[in-house]
Amino acid sequence: MLVQCGAKRINESVAVPFSFRLYFLPFPFYFCLVSIETADVVIIGSGIVGSSVAYHLAQAGCTNVLVIEREAHQGKGSTGKSMGGVRVQFSTPVNIQMSRYSIDFFSKFDEVVGHPADYRAHGYLFCATTESHLNYLKDNRVRQLALGVNNVELVSPAEISEIVPQLRADDILGGTFCPTDGFVDPHSVMMGFMLNARSRGARLWLDTQVTGIQVDPGSAGALPATVETSAAAEQGADRMSALPALDERHISGVMTSRGFVSTRVVVNAAGAWAAEVAKMAGADLPVEPLRRQLVPTEPFDQLPRRFPMVIDMSTGFHFRREGKGILLAWNDPEETPGFKTEFDPAFVEKILTHAASRVPCLIDAEVNPRRAWAGLYEMTPDHHAVIGPSPNVEGLYFVNGFSGHGVMHSPASGRVAADLILHGHSELIDASQLSVNRFAEGRSLEETAIL
Ligand SMILES: Cc1cc2nc3c(=O)[nH]c(=O)nc-3n(C[C@H](O)[C@H](O)[C@H](O)COP(=O)(O)OP(=O)(O)OC[C@H]3O[C@@H](n4cnc5c(N)ncnc54)[C@H](O)[C@@H]3O)c2cc1C
Repeated sequence: MLVQCGAKRINESVAVPFSFRLYFLPFPFYFCLVSIETADVVIIGSGIVGSSVAYHLAQAGCTNVLVIEREAHQGKGSTGKSMGGVRVQFSTPVNIQMSRYSIDFFSKFDEVVGHPADYRAHGYLFCATTESHLNYLKDNRVRQLALGVNNVELVSPAEISEIVPQLRADDILGGTFCPTDGFVDPHSVMMGFMLNARSRGARLWLDTQVTGIQVDPGSAGALPATVETSAAAEQGADRMSALPALDERHISGVMTSRGFVSTRVVVNAAGAWAAEVAKMAGADLPVEPLRRQLVPTEPFDQLPRRFPMVIDMSTGFHFRREGKGILLAWNDPEETPGFKTEFDPAFVEKILTHAASRVPCLIDAEVNPRRAWAGLYEMTPDHHAVIGPSPNVEGLYFVNGFSGHGVMHSPASGRVAADLILHGHSELIDASQLSVNRFAEGRSLEETAIL
């Protein structure tokens, strides 16, 4: 039966008093679990991923969506710290597929979403200095070709020098270049997704922390009728049959700093904080924060005005133009997991050593450490995202653990998450590959093309 998505804003019904999760609440909460709001889907986190999920749900006709963000503004998490790189040059099929869909989406984002993505197809240039790295790039290219990505070119050392003459190329054996890789403006993409979702009826609560998730015993049995969108109904999707076996616990709401919100579906889009949010529902999620630091130079005119993201595979150092200066990045192997968001001034010397070694003219670049910044990657053990339902809490969905690729994969991840919530499957990818179950079932993936 087709039921319209309706937004019942105030629900006076008191939450079930004997829910077992309530036993863990502080005493005063027993008396104040009156729903101040009801939503078909609550999304925790309004970064680029949560915003994309909201957009894709709303676009599919599910508009009774509430996004909850603890910060006063969007983009204060990893999204606002990102380098904005987008590339199809990955090693695993699922990442290649996610990138392919996403880059195509970015190329028409302004038209489709009605907001600029600032997609710049300046390319990614990988430079190999060992035979094994070169073979790795060649093998990846074969996989990319098999998935219909036919514009990744093998380039010779001479061609690399032509693209960026300032590189020290004496030890470079070759590389790959993809002209449609490039950059987007992560903040603008996030805002575009959210503004579009809100124009269709989704709500955004800023300055509101989710402090708990209410999980009740038993299965809820069926989808909340209002999540049964016209799209799902038309396709005759049998969503419930696609859900994994559950051990009879289901979501019934979230506790927030504003009050209790009734919902049967919660999307965890809490970025580097996703494991904490999963724990609120008693679920395990192997996502941990890892600091990443970026160093912008002052205006620098000894490199071209336009050139690709260049990756020196011998060290992992990579760089691109950012306005009049250059943005320098390097994955420090000594970094350890943790919620460290302070920039470490000692990082400047380390990165400049790698920079000057590969791009000798960068020795002249001026750096003001106070303009450098740090943010958090959300790492999973196999460096692939976790997208899909929790195996043991009905109604809880993960869209987490992008391991450095959350901006570039935001269109695909929002689409896949919305598909799974509304239809139980996605035609875009085989989402079971990204299920959290893979870790327990020994089906981990391994992405080695991490920057
Ligand atoms: C330095 C750096 C460079 C990067 N470069 C790239 C790149 O070039 N390309 C790329 O694709 N990716 C890159 N990334 C990774 C990318 O930024 C992230 O994968 C992506 O932003 C994740 O988006 P998100 O929406 O999941 O998380 P976030 O943007 O972190 O959003 C999560 C939100 O959840 C909120 N939240 C958490 N807990 C709660 C709660 N209990 N209640 C309410 N709200 C809550 C947070 O406040 C936050 O706003 C980079 C990351 C860093 C740090």
